[in-house]
Amino acid sequence: MSLKSHLQHLCITVGLVCVGVSVAQAGDTGHHEAGEQLAVERVAGDFSVMVLGSGAPAAQPVGRASAGYMFFLDGEPKILMDAGGGVYQRVADSGMNISPLELVLLSHLHVDHVGDIDPIVKALFFHNRLAGFPRDPSQVLQFFGPNKAPANAPPPALRFPTTSRFIDAHFDAGTGIEAYLNDFARVIGHIPFNYAVQSIEHDNTLGVRTIYDQDGVVIKAVGVPHGPAPSLAFRVEYDGKSVVYSGDTTSLSANSNMIEIARDADLLIYDTAILDSTGLPFSQLHTTPTRIGEVARDAGVKHLVLSHITAITERTLDEVKRSIRQAGYRGRISVAKDLRVYNLDRKGRRRHHDDDD
Ligand SMILES: [Zn+2]
Repeated sequence: MSLKSHLQHLCITVGLVCVGVSVAQAGDTGHHEAGEQLAVERVAGDFSVMVLGSGAPAAQPVGRASAGYMFFLDGEPKILMDAGGGVYQRVADSGMNISPLELVLLSHLHVDHVGDIDPIVKALFFHNRLAGFPRDPSQVLQFFGPNKAPANAPPPALRFPTTSRFIDAHFDAGTGIEAYLNDFARVIGHIPFNYAVQSIEHDNTLGVRTIYDQDGVVIKAVGVPHGPAPSLAFRVEYDGKSVVYSGDTTSLSANSNMIEIARDADLLIYDTAILDSTGLPFSQLHTTPTRIGEVARDAGVKHLVLSHITAITERTLDEVKRSIRQAGYRGRISVAKDLRVYNLDRKGRRRHHDDDD
């Protein structure tokens, strides 16, 4: 039984006890108020994305964790995309049980995108226990992220390991600094810690490639420029809908990779860290609002979600949106917020309208 259904079960069988349970849960960007809905209860339909972190690396008192998003397929949390600092707490706040988690997509290895992977992996074993051990012991947690830069790349790029080395350095049963999690998984979660890692080539010239195609889920990736950090943008397709995530990037590759991967996307989650007037070094790392607008316009994106909000853009979001409109984008724009849920299919949207500005 999932945590969600467990809570509902309490509501049905014990009546007022449900209010007590709700008070004890954390909610939107803070503590959960009596009667307030948990974010996981706003997930509806076949395909949804929950924002777990809409912020950036500079910790600010604005209610935003660093980058992270959870994809729910048929109502279950299956794909985690990035897991920066604070994402663990948002998983907790949401009320979700992550025992069904199958895939972890990492756009790049900056710590505001990977810092909370370890506590989330550990939580998975506890959640498997809380949910009554539903996870198949043969199930593998699959990680995807960028490969190392080529040997002739500038030295700052060579500081980044392959995603395989990064994950193995944490979890390998023999050499990982958290090797103990392999024993812990068996004792607490009643499952072995089976994981696999794929380091994806990120050369800008390779174009959009399919990196996963199974059970109706198609995941595509493309290399995108983000200063020296090897970086990927991802596209997740399910049930006839598509969600694209820029990761962090200037979006300025000569072959317009961001436009190609975002083509006709239902939802495009975009790195919104700077203004058109922002100078170095951030202008070499992130996308200007004008460029966001050009990409969304040329790709024919239906709904643009501004995320990775920084101290620069937090107070200038109206200006950001104006620049995006001036670039000619006519689709819908919303600003990400931690624990906001985007239900992709019509059935889900009818039940919950959680994606308005
Ligand atoms: Zn970042």
